[in-house]
Amino acid sequence: MSKAIFITATDTGVGKTIISCAIGLALKEKGIDVGYMKPFQCSGYDADFVVKALAIKNDKDLVNPYYASEPLAPCVAFKRAKIKIDLKKVFASYNELRMKHEFLIIEGAGGLLVPLKENYLVVDLIRDLDIPALIVARSGLGTLNHTLLTQKYALNYGIKLKGVIINCGKAKGLAEKTNPQTLREFLDTMPLLGVMPYIKNIKSRNGLARLAKEAQKNIDLKALLKKEKSLTEKLVKEDKEYVWHPFTQMKDWQGGEPLIIEEAKGSYLKDTEGKWYLDGVSSLWVNVHGHRKKEIDVSVIKQLNKVAHSTLLGLGNVPSIELAKKLIEIAPKGLAKVFYSDNGSTAVEAALKMAYQYWQHRGEAKHKFIHLENAYHGDTIGSVSVGGIDLFHKVYKNLLFDSYKADSPYCYRCPKSKTYPPCSFECLDSLREILRKHHTSTAALIVEPLVQAAAGMLVWPAGIYKKMSELCKEYNVLLIADEVAVGIGRTGSMFASDLEGVTPDILCIAKGISAGYLPLALTLTTQKIFDGFLGEHKEQKTFFHGHTYTGNPLACAAALANLELFKKEKTLEKLQPKIKFLKEELEKFKELPMVGDVRQKGFMVGIELVRDKATKEPYGWEEKIGIKVCQKVREYGVILRPLGNVIVLMPPLSISKLELEQLLDVTHKAISFITLYRNAKIVKRIRL
Ligand SMILES: *Cc1c(COP(=O)(O)O)cnc(C)c1O
Repeated sequence: MSKAIFITATDTGVGKTIISCAIGLALKEKGIDVGYMKPFQCSGYDADFVVKALAIKNDKDLVNPYYASEPLAPCVAFKRAKIKIDLKKVFASYNELRMKHEFLIIEGAGGLLVPLKENYLVVDLIRDLDIPALIVARSGLGTLNHTLLTQKYALNYGIKLKGVIINCGKAKGLAEKTNPQTLREFLDTMPLLGVMPYIKNIKSRNGLARLAKEAQKNIDLKALLKKEKSLTEKLVKEDKEYVWHPFTQMKDWQGGEPLIIEEAKGSYLKDTEGKWYLDGVSSLWVNVHGHRKKEIDVSVIKQLNKVAHSTLLGLGNVPSIELAKKLIEIAPKGLAKVFYSDNGSTAVEAALKMAYQYWQHRGEAKHKFIHLENAYHGDTIGSVSVGGIDLFHKVYKNLLFDSYKADSPYCYRCPKSKTYPPCSFECLDSLREILRKHHTSTAALIVEPLVQAAAGMLVWPAGIYKKMSELCKEYNVLLIADEVAVGIGRTGSMFASDLEGVTPDILCIAKGISAGYLPLALTLTTQKIFDGFLGEHKEQKTFFHGHTYTGNPLACAAALANLELFKKEKTLEKLQPKIKFLKEELEKFKELPMVGDVRQKGFMVGIELVRDKATKEPYGWEEKIGIKVCQKVREYGVILRPLGNVIVLMPPLSISKLELEQLLDVTHKAISFITLYRNAKIVKRIRL
């Protein structure tokens, strides 16, 4: 891919075309093959002029995909000309030209806020192209204001800026004289890349020669072409020196070659070497609408311009109220109140303490919990106490409170049912038994509805969650649904509980709620539980629990924009065909000799690798089979994170079908490579 720059300006008629031409000529002089594109042109011959001046040979349709004859803003001109703008055509031309040339100059239309089509301005185009912009300013009175406004808006909108070039007119007053120095002082974090003098009869042959010469002299081409120096080596060294990574054997890490991510866009992450990777696990299950999603960025920035944080202890704040209301509107019917915290574990802690204290206020000695085998509810001591994954939890055993453990629906390794589904839910027997024996001492059952995620995406047979909720009702035990992983669209429905028509007494949300932007969690509960805490001050029925960053306004603003996008972009509707496609494509994985089980619910996938398909013998922990597959996909430009021997696919809900294909192809290739070709011993066994 070539380098590219987007030429915009503080206003129309400032000289974008002349500066595009000047830069192009100067670069050509240096022997660089320059391409040019003017995606939208309304009247005039700007594009023709540059094409001719730079002797560009590309098809006119590529250089200028959209032309209208009236001198108006594009959205008006094209509407009047009855031309429908398809941005795909613009991006396709852009991609083609970028392949063809070493350096591509893209000239905008007017300034940043010129509307190109409905809800789409020049800034949106720059954002979508994701290339740095250069601002052309005129010289004179007003220049400072126009230039700084343009700069400020661009930066707030998440556009990278290369710098400013002043294009001088005929006048030579005091303002013109002092503009460059003043701009240098006031431009934040970006340089003044040049001041181009006025050139007479620019369109003549002589004029062009002058332009080329002046450009060489006055434009800082070095700065324009400069590649950001890679800091990878230094960063890796300092990471290894100072940072302790979660769930990571740091000895392995320190011997490895970690990637350092510095940027992202849509479904992709970019490392400090400039390499892009498909984010196959949504930055650990949190991303929903892609990275740097315009609407969410804007919502957070808007909130940042009001207040970043104010406490909910003794005060309210605007976004936390709006978000609570919106969530109650869409949550399973019967949930009425929202308690805020900042991560999944704390959402669960709050739920456990709420359930526990609720029964105390009712004068009942219900102080125990039931959890499931293979459960994961977070890493704080309370949530570990109701955890069922020995690998993570057993070392802390002496720190934890006692909890009843019931069987979990791990169908692939179910000892009772050889073929699933259907089954008769034998795994519920132990839960039923515990409830029968201990319901009078049990406050709540806590479950991850439908999919036990961290245990390796254990997908439950339909109906079992509903049954659990009925058992809880029957035995007067509260139901806590930990929807931290499954909530916010992951299963194809906004909440997993919706899929079985269950209203839990308490529902925990985190991960996807703020679209992967900021830490935020919520514990939703019914009016009945909330009312259990009401009383006179002296009764001390208060819920004595809260975290400092409770209801953080920035995080709530991200979440509000996220929920708004679900509506505006019909996220769940668009997800359904992708879920279907994923399901079909996953069939191919089942044929692989080392794939024991493929589990999918919505956009959650677990591919369990086994050493022996017939006996279901697992790979040993020390074999690091999952880690090896994930290292392999990285070579092909995909980021995954395994759960032991289970390969997890959890792409952003907004992923395109093409990207999804890439994810599946690469994963299939990597599993084949690691399990078949690499391990000679296994290959031998297969041959036998
Ligand atoms: C991730 C997760 C948690 C813990 O959330 P954190 O934000 O990591 O504390 C709790 N429950 C479930 C089901 C999870 O997947």
